[in-house]
Amino acid sequence: MSRRITGLTPSGELHLGNYFGAIKPLVDHQVPGKTITFVSDLHALTLDHDPAQVRRRTMEFATMLLAAGVDPERTVLFVQSHVAGHAELHYLLESATGYGEVRRMIQFREKSRNRRHTRVSLLTYPVLMAADILLYDALEVPVGEDQRQHVELARDIAERFNAAYGPVFTPPRMVNPPVAARIMDLTRPTAKMSKSVSAAGSLRLLDPPEVLRHTVMRAVTDAGDTVEYDPAYRPGLANLLTILAACTGEDPARLAGTFRGYRQLKEAVADAVVAVVEPIQRRYAALGEDPDQVRKILRDGAIRAGEIARGRVDEAKRAIGLLSA
Ligand code: ATP
Ligand code: MG
Repeated sequence: MSRRITGLTPSGELHLGNYFGAIKPLVDHQVPGKTITFVSDLHALTLDHDPAQVRRRTMEFATMLLAAGVDPERTVLFVQSHVAGHAELHYLLESATGYGEVRRMIQFREKSRNRRHTRVSLLTYPVLMAADILLYDALEVPVGEDQRQHVELARDIAERFNAAYGPVFTPPRMVNPPVAARIMDLTRPTAKMSKSVSAAGSLRLLDPPEVLRHTVMRAVTDAGDTVEYDPAYRPGLANLLTILAACTGEDPARLAGTFRGYRQLKEAVADAVVAVVEPIQRRYAALGEDPDQVRKILRDGAIRAGEIARGRVDEAKRAIGLLSA
């Protein structure tokens, strides 16, 4: 089995989309030596940021990953900036990437729109992401649909680098989590739930259960009164069914047939969300009592990740034409 990596950027509050799109697939497939997870603090510097907040959230995200079931015995867990290879390989890969290629990325276009100052790091973000992936020979990258283009770019960069300088990298491919690849905002079901856009329709993993319930009960539904799973024409309803399906491991279309009305469905969704989130919050609170233990896990993880990354960076440097020290 190849290595799998998952990165989470501390750019906002973690939400249920992050849980089902990234954290749960990771927790469900932890294989010693094969599973790598990091808090991508470098990526949090691509948009306006508050230094103290990024630092606090980095710790919060690491704690949340542990609370959600990341097991340091089976998964290498670390903070991206603690492993120098990420920034080093980033630069080497920039020298194998076209300006037009990164300029085209949908996420760059969306995030740079209507901004007076766009950081160069926002443009090159997918190149750093390619470095994150290629450092660890990660063949499978389990991400939601919104990251597909970036994983494809990482693949293109790897293939181009290999063709030009010799076979250094393993071209990755995206793996799509089977259920809930994309969880939408509950008040705006045509926009995805997103941590950098703080929205009323977001289900945050640290929201108290009453807040989660309230958010679900206020969710926008669609015209009509039958419960059907129809993402194109009834996106609000489909999103609720998708969330319920993700929480219970069932099929959204089958679930639709079991409800008589919207209210009954919303109550079931609220119960299911709270049942998933509450135990995670309990473990989060317990870990919060001992931040030194979390920091030690992160330090050990950075040492293990650094050992793997070192080899790949040295090989890439040699291949691209740098004299070894
Ligand atoms: P940002 O607004 O900063 O982009 P985000 O919520 O989109 O935040 P990312 O850091 O871009 O989160 O992605 C973290 C992981 O969560 C990725 O694997 C991404 O595919 C997944 N993810 C993000 N949003 C959703 C969503 N709404 N549904 C499912 N998966 C999601
Ligand atoms: Mg995103």
